[in-house]
Amino acid sequence: MTQGRRRLIAFAACALLAALVATLLPVDIPFLPKTGAPGWTFHEEPTIRVLLGDLAPGASADLGGVAGTPGTRFPTPTRVILEFGRDGSVRANGSGVTLPLVLQGGPDGIGYSGRRYSGDFVVDKDKPDRVVVLNRVPIERYVEGVVLSEMPPNFPEEALKAQAVASRSYAAWKIATCRSLSWDVADTQRSQVYRGNPELPKLAARMVRATRGQVLASGKRPLEAVFSSTCGGSTRSAEEAFGDAAPDPLRGVVCRACDGTTFSTWRCETDRRTVGKVLGVGTVTAFSNPVRHPSDRLRSIDVLGDKGARKTVSGSALQSALGSKALSTWFTSIDVRGRVVVAEGRGFGHGVGMCQVGAGTLARRGADAGSILATYYPGASVAPLWPNP
Ligand SMILES: [Zn+2]
Repeated sequence: MTQGRRRLIAFAACALLAALVATLLPVDIPFLPKTGAPGWTFHEEPTIRVLLGDLAPGASADLGGVAGTPGTRFPTPTRVILEFGRDGSVRANGSGVTLPLVLQGGPDGIGYSGRRYSGDFVVDKDKPDRVVVLNRVPIERYVEGVVLSEMPPNFPEEALKAQAVASRSYAAWKIATCRSLSWDVADTQRSQVYRGNPELPKLAARMVRATRGQVLASGKRPLEAVFSSTCGGSTRSAEEAFGDAAPDPLRGVVCRACDGTTFSTWRCETDRRTVGKVLGVGTVTAFSNPVRHPSDRLRSIDVLGDKGARKTVSGSALQSALGSKALSTWFTSIDVRGRVVVAEGRGFGHGVGMCQVGAGTLARRGADAGSILATYYPGASVAPLWPNP
């Protein structure tokens, strides 16, 4: 064998080894195909702006543990009382400030409304008569504050990892679509629940680190990876639930993994006068003409009242009229019996995306985070949100 040929073989062996090592490098979500370089990839870990609260004219807010630059009006660390005057002015510890006001946290973060937060606080006006208090925080810290707020900490770790990826994906989608607005997400179920620094910081950090920077993608876009508690047997399409065109991973799947769990079926009884009053028909006497979505959830139904009133209401209007024990719009029966409206149904929540209780069951049966995500977001791929997270 010539030396040149030997060199060629050695080179080829090295290249093969390099390729093997490349495929063996840790891939956090091995089940899902990796996408190429999506157009929305950030240059570095992005921050997210979370709406924590707002002030109307005449209101004030109390922030503790704010770090300041020596020599400025905020010595380190300090408490800052914000006041939004009826004349539209904003004062911090009695002195007028111009907005946006950025407040940096001390070593323990910033305290606000009984919780502590990492990152900065930004105080700004998003309307002439509204001052908003935002937490501007790196996305990984944000996901640490979401994962155990959205899923019980005693769930299996692979389900918690799937939750971390879904929550990060949803946040990435919001960042990508809300950049022109004053803030990206609310800290409630309106977006996803975020309670600042988690009560179990080690567990939260471990679940987030194990999936660091990984998001679900649909085509070249981050996936709006919504989720809900218990689907009741099948998830539904985002289009059906929210009216927006749904990407393939949000078209709905059969679940069954939440069968037999606490909220997979439910029953509620509500006074028929109360229901009729909310729906504007007097006292309810009967229901008729139910129209169902393709997923079997209730689209609309006619409600008849005692004085001849008749009204077509949406499934969600009926759900809210029945009160908090009606857990979804998946009604399997609805009747008037005596003085009450008796409703039975399936599932808890809007039913789009990952079924969290089902994810817990799949993890207990041995599924990893990747296969849980592939089950509930079929066709999604996984991609890093920024290079080499
Ligand atoms: Zn389910």
